[in-house]
Amino acid sequence: MERIVVIGGGIAGLGCAMALAGPDREIFVVERDSPPPADIEQAFETWERKGVTQLRHSHVFLGRLFSLIRDRHPRLLQMLTAAGVRELGFEFGLPSPLRGSYVRAPGDENLSILFSRRTTLELEMRAYAESLQGVKFIPDTIVRGLLLEHGETLTVKGLSLEHQSGVREDITSDIVVDASGRNTLCTDWLREQGCVIAEEESPAGILYFTRHYRLREGQEEPPRDLNPGAGDLGYIKYGVFPADNRHFSVTLAVPEIELALRTAVVRPETFDAICAKLPGCARWIDPARAEPVTKVFAMGNLKNTWKHFVRDREPEVLGFFAVGDAALRTNPLYGRGCSSAVMHAHILADVLAASANPRTRALQFEWRTRNELHPFWDAIRRQDLGAIRRAKNEQNPHYKPRFRARLIKSFADDAITPATRGNIKVLRALMPAFHMLERPTAFLARPAIVARILLMWATPKSRKQHLYPVKLGPDRAEMLRQLGLKGAPA
Ligand SMILES: Cc1cc2nc3c(=O)[nH]c(=O)nc-3n(C[C@H](O)[C@H](O)[C@H](O)COP(=O)(O)OP(=O)(O)OC[C@H]3O[C@@H](n4cnc5c(N)ncnc54)[C@H](O)[C@@H]3O)c2cc1C
Repeated sequence: MERIVVIGGGIAGLGCAMALAGPDREIFVVERDSPPPADIEQAFETWERKGVTQLRHSHVFLGRLFSLIRDRHPRLLQMLTAAGVRELGFEFGLPSPLRGSYVRAPGDENLSILFSRRTTLELEMRAYAESLQGVKFIPDTIVRGLLLEHGETLTVKGLSLEHQSGVREDITSDIVVDASGRNTLCTDWLREQGCVIAEEESPAGILYFTRHYRLREGQEEPPRDLNPGAGDLGYIKYGVFPADNRHFSVTLAVPEIELALRTAVVRPETFDAICAKLPGCARWIDPARAEPVTKVFAMGNLKNTWKHFVRDREPEVLGFFAVGDAALRTNPLYGRGCSSAVMHAHILADVLAASANPRTRALQFEWRTRNELHPFWDAIRRQDLGAIRRAKNEQNPHYKPRFRARLIKSFADDAITPATRGNIKVLRALMPAFHMLERPTAFLARPAIVARILLMWATPKSRKQHLYPVKLGPDRAEMLRQLGLKGAPA
């Protein structure tokens, strides 16, 4: 019997319980917050999650998470469907020029998105995890420290717990998994003991604002047509997130440097006014179609972070594995955090199954994490740095991009975009990376796809006009003017 204690019952902690449960393991999931109410609507309205500040922000669950659940946890997929969570397949996200001619092909079945409020998904995941052999939750309990054994390499032997009653207790274990999320304290505790845990950090450059809505009686979601449900206008990004049980939410992501906009957007009337000026959102939030059901939730301090637990090919700590946001964080805009967390949990399960040697386990876990997750992390980091530069340039009416910047923009706007909107083979080649099913640059290894993209780049604009997306909304100056806001000086 191997005893595993998991800190945190969020997505990574639940993913660990799901991936690790088995006849020869006992798994304790220690969670500071109280268990959820059983009812979905009640959970959305009242479940208090001090440990998960992003709980009521829009969440979308990509193909990688969907496929993992479908293939390894089919009963959970049934539970999710019964709870109203929706699977929207590849065909629902097709750009307008490709609709009508769509014919299903092998692989499309993996490119599905799960649409759900985070509370609904978490409620069902937790019920499923709790039903698995050997899994026990210890709710209302905060982990206050690590039990450590000092040797050649530091080894974690358990946790020091504080229950809501104030009673303290130690729990010993063979393995501790840190799934305590973005604000984990474990790294600090280990560093205090002399572990050198290097950390890469890069800004996301945005603030997140989310409001939830519910379709009115007799109303349906608007048709998916020319106006995309997500878009980037440089000074603002928007996304409509369909969810379960007639709910949906809208997220506006505002660059940190847009001071006037980011202050104003938190007011519900300004939030709705901005949405009303973006055709991709406007019909969703039309008061005749839907009613707002929450205030505007705001969230900042968004970063991309990556921790290294191995130095000079030697683990800094044994018997300890950080999974999910405790190990790596990404800008939420890309919707990859939950897929990444559950993937990470399954990597841990593979590594623990492959060897019982603590050092081998630590090295293998670090290597596989780096190999399978770092390419996505790095692609996001680079894209964010580009977006931060773009947002800064938006504020300067005299900005003239240099040749390299013009070239990159032209490749994105005049090659990749029309190629994915007009050619299903190109779209199929790029979507697995979006869904974390393939590395971000995997399509570059397919010469036929690269050739199609280059051919599109060489095609005169007049012949591909119909493949450009419609205008997403007013430009920055016009939006600020319409909202009565002052723009930042150039
Ligand atoms: C605004 C926002 C929007 C996002 N949108 C998406 C999205 O659309 N799609 C997507 O895939 N990802 C999204 N993400 C990312 C996603 O939310 C995270 O990647 C995911 O929740 C990580 O799971 P986790 O279990 O590591 O952390 P969390 O889900 O944060 O869970 C950590 C858990 O640990 C518990 N805990 C913490 N400290 C202790 C302690 N000392 N003792 C006991 N328990 C403790 C907490 O209570 C919590 O339950 C978003 C993130 C943000 C910030």
